[in-house]
Amino acid sequence: MATAQSQSYRQRLLEKQRELTSEIARIESDEEQVAAADSPDVGDRANRAYDKEALFQQLEQARLILVLVREAILRMDAGTFGACVACGGAVEPKRLDAVPWARHCIACQEKQDLGVL
Ligand SMILES: [Zn+2]
Repeated sequence: MATAQSQSYRQRLLEKQRELTSEIARIESDEEQVAAADSPDVGDRANRAYDKEALFQQLEQARLILVLVREAILRMDAGTFGACVACGGAVEPKRLDAVPWARHCIACQEKQDLGVL
């Protein structure tokens, strides 16, 4: 991969890492507020349970992507960024442009989605 191209992916990965880190901090503080806002009202309680669930899912998702982003940065440092972690082939540039932290080429990702990888 050309240096300029790899630099631009690195920039995007670092940017995403920052975004996710602050998003996680924000969700965690929202969670604390939801937990602290006690109310005897049944409707409020139901809303709060719903909010908690929604925040929890956002948090899980953000943490998952953060792990993938960090792994991609490590692969970049190791010089293996852009290679599929399953077959070693090149991850399609279009795919990397859309998702720079993608671990798999399209063929392997499809296999993984089907549960056969
Ligand atoms: Zn592959």
